[in-house]
Parts: sequence; structure tokens; C-alpha cells
Amino acid sequence: MENYFQPEIECASREQIRQWQDERLVKQVKHVYDNVPYYRKMMEEKGLTPADIQSVDDLHKLPFLTKDDLREAYPNGLVGVPMSECVRIHSTSGTTGRRVVAYYTQHDVDLWEDCCARAIVAAGGSDEDVVHVAYGYGLFTGGAGLHGGSHKVGCLTLPMSSGNTDRQIQFMTDLGSTIICCTPSYAAYLSESIIEKGLQDQIKLKSGIFGAEAWTQEMRRDIEQKLGIKAFDIYGLTEISGPGVSYECSAQGGMHINEDHFIPEIIDPNTGEVLPDGEKGELVFTCITKEAFPLLRYRTRDICVLNREKCACGRTHVRMSKPMGRSDDMLIIKGVNVFPSQIETVLLNNGYAANYQIIVDRVNHGDTIEVQVEMTPEMFSDSLSEVSAREKELVNALKGMLGIYAKVTLVAPKTITRSEGKAVRIIDKRKLY
Ligand SMILES: [Zn+2]
Repeated sequence: MENYFQPEIECASREQIRQWQDERLVKQVKHVYDNVPYYRKMMEEKGLTPADIQSVDDLHKLPFLTKDDLREAYPNGLVGVPMSECVRIHSTSGTTGRRVVAYYTQHDVDLWEDCCARAIVAAGGSDEDVVHVAYGYGLFTGGAGLHGGSHKVGCLTLPMSSGNTDRQIQFMTDLGSTIICCTPSYAAYLSESIIEKGLQDQIKLKSGIFGAEAWTQEMRRDIEQKLGIKAFDIYGLTEISGPGVSYECSAQGGMHINEDHFIPEIIDPNTGEVLPDGEKGELVFTCITKEAFPLLRYRTRDICVLNREKCACGRTHVRMSKPMGRSDDMLIIKGVNVFPSQIETVLLNNGYAANYQIIVDRVNHGDTIEVQVEMTPEMFSDSLSEVSAREKELVNALKGMLGIYAKVTLVAPKTITRSEGKAVRIIDKRKLY
């Protein structure tokens, strides 16, 4: 059995990792300053030259890049090499505005696939595995990233792409897929379909690598139980390369960031100030090995916590929590940071579906928050005392999660308006004053 595990990198000492980061950062800043006029101008506006960046300690001096910069520089204003050296592009879906187009040299593709290979190994993969890639192929990075990683590990790779669930299940049973890579919501759907067809016994899956959308621990347990697998989280974004920027190991206690390629920081989303380890804030990445699209201090808008404690798996690279929300979704209520995803977790834990609305208001100079939640048809009742007991239960559960009082109003099934696109979850009336 061939194993792709690279302990000399993944379990390197912190001193070694820091040394790689210092050297690569200095080199990368020079590369960007010399070859990306857009960023050079940003540095010059702050009076910076590459000589000001001598180590990771100087990273905080550099300006941030945001999604707005990427849109402004569209399509190739942030590319750091001649087009003749680029071999690939990928792109975001563009659901929230102009698409972001990311460029790759062959070296960039290699390092990205290497990151995905580490994720597959961390999920128990070796050259004896059959990797079933049911992420979309095409402009989306999901399919291509895990596909390339699977090749590196030497797995038999099934480039299924998404959709056609009957064919997915047939290949899974006929070809003996052992590791599935897809979005968690598709994994949940597949597991339902497999159970409906009564094919659980014919599935050889042992693990799954799920990412590209938010999912809760409850969903993880559900998928693990239904498919009889261990479910691993993976994180990444097109701007930074794609999936595999970080990935979960067998300890399932956060995702190891590939620190030989990316330097993470956590900042206060409002002030931009760098926060100490262990504090919750916006995740920022600096790419120290990429050539074509070498973003420095890119603000992901994902709210996370970094954990540098020793991991049981032996890997030494820092772990990031699952994103707890988007910095642009974060609500500040009575001075407390509240994320809609925290509220959703409480609702799902208590047997409700994700049909809810959060109404924030300001009464007598004080913030108020109300959560309107639909009862499921099973729990729907005309008994006022039953409903108020349920509401009280949710108020307590929310207080446990958020640390503040939130009013809860239960409403009849199907009364909250459904939207075709992204659901409107938050109504912040404070902005109207
Ligand atoms: Zn680990």
C-alpha cells in the first residue's frame, strides 16, 4: 500500500513551519510588488516597499485585499505572471455579484492538488481506495481539486461530477467506491436515496470529504449514521486555490491549514486589528507559494477561531474551526456578536426545520431580537399552553448558545414566506432609523 502522507511537512516542528513562512513571505511580497501593479499601488499608498516585510511579524503592515478588489481588478488585474505561463482558470459562481476568476500556473495546480491529496490521506485514503468525486466539474473548483488530489494519492478516481443520483448509486455499488467527495447537502440526499432503495449493504463507503457549503455537527452525525462512514470537513475558496486550504483529520477537531502554503490570521472584522489566537474573528489568508494569483492578506469574510494546541493525529499545522458565519451576516446585539448559523443550530437541535426569521429592532435605545420559527406539522398544536412551553424551551436553548435573551414566537407550518433564491433570514429594523 502506497501512502502519500508527508510527515516531514505535515508534522514539521513549529520552528520549521515558521522558517518556511518567513522565507516564502519575503519572496512572495517581492514577487507581488514587482508583478502585480494593482497591489503595488496599494503598498505604495501605505508607504511600503518589499524591504519593510522581513518576516511574518511584519505581515500586519500589508494592506488587506477584499472581494471588492477582486471585482475591481476583474478579469486579470491581480495576475502575477504572463498569460503564457497560466494553464487554467477557475471561477466563483457569481451569485452575489461579478464573478471572480482565479488563474493557475502548472506549479499552482500541483500545490493545490497536493493540498487535496493531504485531505484524502487524512480521511484514510491510500492507493487502494476508490474515490468517488461527486462535486461539480467545470469552472467550480470542487471537482477538479479533489480529482487531482485523488490522482496524486494513486486512488482509482471516478469523475462522476454532480447530479444523476441513480447513476451515482449504481457506480458506487458496482465499482465499490470507498471515499465520496461532494457537498454535505448532496451527501444527505444520497444517503436518503440509498436507504430508500434498500442498498445500504451494497455500499462500501468508509469515509466522505464534504465541503463548499455550511453544515452543522448534527448533519455530520446524520450522514455518518445513515451511510455508515466517517464524515470529514474540507475548506477552501476559489480565490485562494480551491478546496484543501484546510482539511479535517481523524481527530475531527477542526481543520488543519496547510501552513507551508498559506498564512492565516484572525482579525476584528470591524477594525481590521489582528486578534490573538483563540479569539473569534474574520479569517484572512496570505498565499506564500502561489505564482499566478498570489493574494496577500485576503479577507475571506468567514468567522473562525484558530487553535494551535497539539492535535491527536500528530499534524502540527494550525487548525481552524468550521466557519461560524460570514462577517457580513454578523449581528451585534446588545454588544454581543450573534450569527444566524448559531440560531439555526439551536433550532435544528430542538427538532425544528430551518424555516425561521430573525427580527432585530431597537426599543428605548436597547436592542431586541425575536426569532420566529415555524412548527413542524407534527408539533403543530392549538393548545396555547403547549405552544408557550415549547417557546420557553427554545428561549432557554438560545440563551445557552448566544448568551442573551431572544424572544421566540412559534408560528404555524408554512407561514414564513419562501424565497426562490437565498432565504431572507434577517430583518434588521435598526438600519431603518
Ligand atoms: Zn489532526
